[in-house]
Amino acid sequence: MSRVVIIGAGGVGRVTAFKCAQNKEIFSEIVLASRTKSKCDVIAADIEKQLGVKIKTDQVDADHVDQVVALFKKHEPKMVINVALPYQDLTIMDACLQAGVHYLDTANYEPPEEAKFEYKWQWAYQDKFKEAGLTAVLGCGFDPGVTGVFTSRAAKHFFDEIHYLDIVDCNAGDHGKAFATNFNPEINIREITQKGKYWEDGKWVETNPFEFRKDLDYPNIGKRPSYLLFHEELESLVKNYPTIKRARFWMTFGDEYLTHLRVIQNIGMASIEPVNYEGKEIVPLQFLKAVLPNPGDLGENYEGETSIGCRIKGVKDGKEKTYYIWNNCSHKAAFDETGAQGVSYTTGVPAMIGAAMMLTGKWSGAGVFNVEEFDSDPFLEKLATSGLPWHEKHDIELGMD
Ligand code: NDP
Repeated sequence: MSRVVIIGAGGVGRVTAFKCAQNKEIFSEIVLASRTKSKCDVIAADIEKQLGVKIKTDQVDADHVDQVVALFKKHEPKMVINVALPYQDLTIMDACLQAGVHYLDTANYEPPEEAKFEYKWQWAYQDKFKEAGLTAVLGCGFDPGVTGVFTSRAAKHFFDEIHYLDIVDCNAGDHGKAFATNFNPEINIREITQKGKYWEDGKWVETNPFEFRKDLDYPNIGKRPSYLLFHEELESLVKNYPTIKRARFWMTFGDEYLTHLRVIQNIGMASIEPVNYEGKEIVPLQFLKAVLPNPGDLGENYEGETSIGCRIKGVKDGKEKTYYIWNNCSHKAAFDETGAQGVSYTTGVPAMIGAAMMLTGKWSGAGVFNVEEFDSDPFLEKLATSGLPWHEKHDIELGMD
């Protein structure tokens, strides 16, 4: 029985609030707070209508530590689920230390002025959280998040040494729009237009955006063009599993999406450098976000599935072994249950489960942790019964060489 504050009322905040409300025995009181309170109120009304559960709402600008501390003092939560934007991670972590609140997020801190996708800023909080006797869990969405837990299951149960890890992320959904991003456009476009990298033989190998393509076969979907890019969980996984010789991340993009993206980049709209427009400083990418479809509104006619998993090769008892573990999620089923599409759903459900693990004491410890450092079994048990059933296959052709 614990009080939780959720910060952020986008697609992911909506799903997280719905899933916490479905687990009232763990989340006895839920407060949804965000910069725009009216968005929290809409979600709260939908939850009351669909689930008969009342949640509280509040306003906070989480760029300001004092405002987050005041929010925590007012509601006295045991923990915060941060599903605002990566820019707010450090201010919310600072507020947690001041108010004695446990912390969980789904994306690494990003300095607004440069796209980095590194854990170094948040790992630097290790001693502070340790001394305060508080737990901070980083990156507990799907990727990062479940992909780390999948890898941890493989290491715990099926491998003596993991040698090759490929995380494969397919969105085979169709939302009927010419161009839209599935989560915050600014974060998404920053992520995929920067140089990529993968881990090989103890070092990072840099790649150009979209330099490497493979047509990978996804369960229940078929072959889809998949491109190598850097994703933040690779950084913690190669640190926590030092036997890994090569770790890569692949994501599907359709030709139409890539054409739009190329144009957006060529005309300078993907830039995060401010420009002066009629006497006002604007960031082109932030302006683009304002005119693109809101990812939270894509759900209504979204068809098809996502498929995200880990393809792993290594050794067990001196023999070579392959393993594939994945989840497929239907956009329509996600929308019917929560009013949000599959990408928000696959992020919000694991955020709720990570928080449930912390509140029930199954994941504990003082300090800053990535998800693969905890026991994967209770997490995956709950994932399977919370709308994201997963599947695994052993000793199959992975198609990854
Ligand atoms: P949205 O842009 O839809 O929502 C973000 C929410 O955060 C909005 O309600 C916004 O408020 C709020 N917010 C922004 N700035 C502040 C602030 N300073 N103070 C308080 N609230 C603020 O994003 P999503 O819901 O799509 O994504 C949420 C997070 O989930 C992101 O960090 C994203 O990177 C992460 N994510 C992680 C994934 C994973 O698998 N690990 C996958 C997908 C997303 P307002 O409406 O007022 O702007």
